[in-house]
Amino acid sequence: MSTLQGSCFCGEVTFEASGEPAAMGYCHCASCRHWSAGPVNAFSLWKPESVRITRGAPSVGTFNKTPTSYRKWCTKCGGHLFTEHPTWGVVDIYASTLPQLHFEPALHVNYQETVLRIKDGKPKMKDMPKEMGGSGVLLAE
Ligand SMILES: [Zn+2]
Ligand SMILES: [Zn+2]
Repeated sequence: MSTLQGSCFCGEVTFEASGEPAAMGYCHCASCRHWSAGPVNAFSLWKPESVRITRGAPSVGTFNKTPTSYRKWCTKCGGHLFTEHPTWGVVDIYASTLPQLHFEPALHVNYQETVLRIKDGKPKMKDMPKEMGGSGVLLAE
């Protein structure tokens, strides 16, 4: 089983992700954009038991604006780590914090909120897949 190493921007907090992600893609929602300060969030979803903080746990900050997302970052550098989604049973590790991850996006979610259209031929979900409580509706690129 492969294990990928991740860290915050300064390296104070390190973590690892074991096995394979359950899903990878891009989220265009306003919350992801605001939190990441970027036009789109590249996500990789992992089972909670696959993700482990290996150093710097006392420096991990948590903020939950909604009960579906517990956002984690390093309190020393402000660098983002990952977001726990307890109601969906997954942890979203920002692809950029796992440099060794072979990022293969399968879909785009929350495309109705996009500010950056990406014409890569991948499915564009209006909101979320049905199995995650969304409509499952697809939009044009
Ligand atoms: Zn840091
Ligand atoms: Zn989002």
